[in-house]
Amino acid sequence: MSERLGFIGLGIMGQGMALNLLRAGYDLAVWNRTASKCADVVSAGAAACDTPREVAEKSDIIFICVSNTADVEAVIFGENGLFDGLTAGNLVVDHSTISPHGTREIANRLSERSVRMLDAPISGGSEGAAKGTLSIMIGGDADQVERARPYLEVMGKTITHVGGQGDGQSVKLVNQILVAGTMLSMGEALLFAQASGLNLEKTLAAVSGGAAGSWTLSNRGPQVIERDWRPGFTIDLQQKDLRLVQEAADHVGAPIPATSLAFQLYRTLQKLGLGHEGNHAIVRALEHLIDVEIGSE
Ligand code: NAP
Repeated sequence: MSERLGFIGLGIMGQGMALNLLRAGYDLAVWNRTASKCADVVSAGAAACDTPREVAEKSDIIFICVSNTADVEAVIFGENGLFDGLTAGNLVVDHSTISPHGTREIANRLSERSVRMLDAPISGGSEGAAKGTLSIMIGGDADQVERARPYLEVMGKTITHVGGQGDGQSVKLVNQILVAGTMLSMGEALLFAQASGLNLEKTLAAVSGGAAGSWTLSNRGPQVIERDWRPGFTIDLQQKDLRLVQEAADHVGAPIPATSLAFQLYRTLQKLGLGHEGNHAIVRALEHLIDVEIGSE
């Protein structure tokens, strides 16, 4: 028999994930800080709750997808938070990208009430959330991963149990190092193409199928060419993750020169008031270095 499910955080990612659980036939209790964002999932059959606590009271497994470490702490331990409604044996699955260290602290506090936790950050963008093709990297105990697996398989295509508590978040930071570097090299490459007077559509088609092809190039390259800066993943959230990378890299003593450069360029865009744009807009920081814009005649 299916366990009772809850979902907290119906942002860009949470909306798609919750809708996929509903489409698979699961009942879902939901809460979002901005209540209006519950409308679509309620239309699809979800039960809206007034507080995270109410979600906990109505659920055995609670999925969370909010922004940062402090936000996960707020929905769990804040006033009328999950913690007030959780009981022994409940499972909290956190899909947010947050600090690995913070994750272990949250898991320890939950374990005092015999509540289990998995850190299960996601990758695959808003498209992956909508289509149920996310990559989900999980830290925690194997028995709880198996318990959550049927539901995770509705939301994601690649479900990988990578290690103990917090290791899912560390792998997500590996992912973010790769994303930042790829976004930067895509921006650099397409601006070079523009400055060289090349046809950008043909350039993109030519390089996408070869060794330089990537998810970023296929999904965000066309957006860059169209100067469509709508976010799958905002610059502000990207910076949040790069801060987590910097903190963790400092802790383990790993060099991250490319990630640090991407961080500085994104900061320029934030200073220009563009933090709400997608992370593929990193090319706009490079445009400021020369008098050439993508798409100009
Ligand atoms: P988003 O659209 O900005 O949504 C953030 C969600 O968190 C909203 O539901 C927001 O509620 C809620 N929230 C934030 N702070 C809160 C707080 N203190 N208390 C209660 N609720 C709070 O972000 P997103 O793109 O869905 O990202 C969510 C998580 O997934 C982040 O950790 C992000 O790094 C990660 N992620 C995102 C992507 C992507 O491509 N977008 C990909 C992989 C991973 P309101 O509606 O009230 O603001």
